[in-house]
Amino acid sequence: MLPRYYEFYNPVKVLSGDHALENLPYEMAHLSASRPILLTNQQLVEVGLTRILESALRGSELVIAAQFTEIPPDSSVHVVNAAGRVFREAGCDSIIALGGGSVIDTAKGLRVLIGQETDDIMQYMGADIVKPARRVPFAVIPTTAGTGSEATLVAVIAHPERQVKMEFVSHHLLPDLAVLDPRLTRSLPPRITASTGMDALVHAIESYTSVQRNPLSDAYAWAAIELIRDHLPRAVANGHDTEARLAMANAALMAGAAFSNAMVGLVHAIGHAVGAICRVAHGDAMAILLPHVMEYNLDLVHERYGRLLLALAGPELYAATPAPERGQQAIAVVRAFSQRLHEACGLPLRLRDVGVTDDVLPAIARTAINDGALLLNPKEAGLDDVLQILRQAL
Ligand code: NAD
Repeated sequence: MLPRYYEFYNPVKVLSGDHALENLPYEMAHLSASRPILLTNQQLVEVGLTRILESALRGSELVIAAQFTEIPPDSSVHVVNAAGRVFREAGCDSIIALGGGSVIDTAKGLRVLIGQETDDIMQYMGADIVKPARRVPFAVIPTTAGTGSEATLVAVIAHPERQVKMEFVSHHLLPDLAVLDPRLTRSLPPRITASTGMDALVHAIESYTSVQRNPLSDAYAWAAIELIRDHLPRAVANGHDTEARLAMANAALMAGAAFSNAMVGLVHAIGHAVGAICRVAHGDAMAILLPHVMEYNLDLVHERYGRLLLALAGPELYAATPAPERGQQAIAVVRAFSQRLHEACGLPLRLRDVGVTDDVLPAIARTAINDGALLLNPKEAGLDDVLQILRQAL
């Protein structure tokens, strides 16, 4: 059934394919960009990803005017402010982000900083605070296939002193270009491939059951789930499987476009808190919490989960499962998928596997219930509910 009213927005131009990066100079010229700052991190320089970019730019008018590599996992407001100083000192006119969600979200913060002509990103925390301003051309080249940040209006940036991951939400955060080139994820180790891929799966499943879902976000989410089902185990087994890498890059982007419009839910609310308090990698937290939150939500969304069984498992299991049991079966399929990845590369299955201890659960729960992602979860959750989910996941 169509919602009485909905909105869907995604203006990002996607360049997808083996060697898609070669078209970046042409697209940046179209955006009147000639002196980009390159945001990436040292690890990605060392594995040779910046060399692939340099070779794609060779002979073009696009000159990297500054390179900023001091970006830690989850980044921070201080890092964004520091990148702003480098951008201005080098006289840059545009931004290229080459990296995973941590680099991309730093770049989104930088774009806000420059566009709003400020030197402190903290003023723009929250939803729809960023106003139309100087538009800084912005290209994103994801090197993980998970966050989908290249197609979302969200930036998640940590505030280390306050132990929170803050969300900046605005249409002005959506990049102009997303380049999906399988050469950029080849070097991603199996363990990070699995964990980031599970992040994309959570985006798709949470947006499919969000109270703000709509037919377009559903279509993106569905397509993403089918791609992940068929290609994540392949990308984990063989990082050089170009077809699987490209499929996962597409899946992450589609899941990002889905949740950028439908939003996410309780897995993210708890996962952000786990990440901020215990420094757990985002994808690991997502993978661990997903089946537990699905169990919690099941009574209210069993019909939606039941439909998802088709995308998650394919037609045979769907047809063989009686309709009332499909929701529960979908959760079983998710558990089996994680177990398979655990056996293939050590994807963690429990919070204790990633260093979370019983004594911090109340603090995680208190932070989680104040997370904006909770608002659109299909079932309300209070402090005790979250604590129970955390205990089950421990
Ligand atoms: P990440 O960017 O932190 O990268 C994880 C690790 O993988 C890093 O050490 C990185 O250097 C390494 N790496 C990345 N690409 C590589 C490659 N090709 N080869 C070798 N190593 C590589 O991880 P992520 O999961 O992509 O991003 C997580 C961050 O994104 C979190 O802060 C999370 O909250 C945020 N996030 C944002 C959104 C959004 O819409 N803005 C959505 C989900 C998550």
